[in-house]
Amino acid sequence: MSANERSMTAESDTSIHHPGSDSRPRTRLAPSPTGDLHLGNARTFLCNWALARRLGWSIILRHEDLDASRAVPGSCERIEASLHWLGLDWDGPSRLQSENLDPYIDAMRTLAGGDLVFRSDLSRREVREAIGAPHGGELVFPATLRPIERDRWGFMDRSAGHRFAMPGGEEVVRDEIFGTCTFDPAKEGGDPVVWTRDGRPAYQLAVVVDDLLDGVTDIVRGDDLLSSAARQQRLGQALGRGTPPRWWHLPLVHDQDGRRLSKRDGDLGLDALRTAGVSPERVVGLLLHLGGFVPEPAPIHARDAVGLINPERLTTLSESERGSPCRLGQEDLDWLRS
Ligand code: GLU
Repeated sequence: MSANERSMTAESDTSIHHPGSDSRPRTRLAPSPTGDLHLGNARTFLCNWALARRLGWSIILRHEDLDASRAVPGSCERIEASLHWLGLDWDGPSRLQSENLDPYIDAMRTLAGGDLVFRSDLSRREVREAIGAPHGGELVFPATLRPIERDRWGFMDRSAGHRFAMPGGEEVVRDEIFGTCTFDPAKEGGDPVVWTRDGRPAYQLAVVVDDLLDGVTDIVRGDDLLSSAARQQRLGQALGRGTPPRWWHLPLVHDQDGRRLSKRDGDLGLDALRTAGVSPERVVGLLLHLGGFVPEPAPIHARDAVGLINPERLTTLSESERGSPCRLGQEDLDWLRS
């Protein structure tokens, strides 16, 4: 095993970010600092936090701030304030991914050592044109676009874009909520970007490296990332992760028009709700109701959510419950503001 490979094993290096003495399972809250948290983010973080507190996992807070073009100044502080307002906490200080790029560079070297990354500066438009793909839908970067020249394989130039040569074949994701899901990441997404053309670690790489080095055992997040779990398992294997994390993918929260909540729903941001005089107990109560943990919306303190967010309910959702997003109706919003 090379020094790089050794540095990527969870056992040896959890101390890089967090003291290794805590042997409890560990989860992470991983917000992107692109603005205020909306109700959908709040639902994920509330479930994540309550499961952790109920099941005795430790919690770290990691701001996923590598994409400077999307970062909104001041959001890390606002997100932490919103989480505290909601009644959530975490163990130890929070951290920013951008604080130290060394682990990502090490990971790229490990991948390069296995001939698993190649340089590619093709833009999305160029990939589309090269493969004759129509606009819309997920863009698949096929193995046929991998370079033939040897000198484009490796990690020599940090200012150039790089992709991971996704191995072919099926990858099984065992999700606590969705059960056993089988993906073929090479066919479904192709070779993902692991290092961007503007010279920084890409999401897929950074999240895998951090979950490995942080010793994260349980990942709770929205089900829009379920297929990414297959890619992330593959990347984790390539970086020496023995067993994948336990995944808990939650159905997303949609607005009245059936669209997933996003930053454009500014008035559903926690900051805006707080300013409008909505209490955190109402937000928690509504989120528990939307998740089917309580029959009617009622004000609930976050500490009482720990007893109400029952993992059994999450792991036994019916296929239609898992397959359909929670819908935030006008009556829910009226109740929130009443
Ligand atoms: N930072 C990501 C987001 O806000 C979360 C990624 C993950 O949970 O893996 O969507």
